[in-house]
Amino acid sequence: MREAPDAIVFKELGQVFKTDSGSVEALRDVNFAVKRHEFVAVLGPSGCGKSTLLRCIAGLLAPTSGQVDVFGLPVTEPRDDIGIVFQKPTLLPWASVEDNVVFPIKHKTGRVNQEHRASAREMLKMVGLEGFEKRMPAELSGGMQQRVGIARALLLNPDILLMDEPFSALDALTREEMGFELLRIWQASPKTVLFITHSINEAVLLADRVLVMTGRPGSVLCDLEVPIERPRSIETTSSKVMHDFSGQLRSLLLKRAA
Ligand code: ADP
Ligand code: MG
Repeated sequence: MREAPDAIVFKELGQVFKTDSGSVEALRDVNFAVKRHEFVAVLGPSGCGKSTLLRCIAGLLAPTSGQVDVFGLPVTEPRDDIGIVFQKPTLLPWASVEDNVVFPIKHKTGRVNQEHRASAREMLKMVGLEGFEKRMPAELSGGMQQRVGIARALLLNPDILLMDEPFSALDALTREEMGFELLRIWQASPKTVLFITHSINEAVLLADRVLVMTGRPGSVLCDLEVPIERPRSIETTSSKVMHDFSGQLRSLLLKRAA
């Protein structure tokens, strides 16, 4: 029997941006694979091409060399089975919370049916926003707006969830809460997650594996399995194994910056 393909595979991926002031090599020879239902965090210095990686998987940007495969096929355009959460919630200010969640369907097909609305309400409940369906984004806190973005990304129950520093605008407590919420969602409805973050602790707390990237041009410096059992909890954050592993990552990142 043929083995099922990995969810995401980068093959010798390179990205060079041409600008008026010359070219910028953002990524070089990126190789790695993410298995189905794996939770992988990506850590790396600012400007090392993390968002660029994500845009290549999402089909929003064509790589200048190499390729990205999703479930065994090269990415050539955005796919319905990929949900994306950006750093900022990017909500439409004039649309209600529920309308924001169904917006991608409306944009794509021109119409939204009752079934879509029902599943939007279900997703909003899942991210703890039951009762806020008719509110406008401006009435919500930053953390709540980010949850709307997550509900929107989850609406079509995507196999792959791409998250680009999704919690970086939140205060530390809300951020930790959202991390645990994401783990709960991921466990209740398994999916492949690629999670970009600047926070070593967040990467370690959430992921099965952590990829550390080099500075520009970005490539994979190392790929480490997180040696921490699941389920993870608030106690995990103060455990010795978490402390030691985070320290190992910190020195890897610092060495690169030196
Ligand atoms: P990160 O997310 O790791 O901070 P990015 O992927 O956003 O990094 O960017 C990587 C590099 O590529 C940066 O130097 C950035 O300025 C450059 N870059 C990103 N997108 C473009 C673009 N559309 N045009 C030109 N340069 C870009
Ligand atoms: Mg970025």
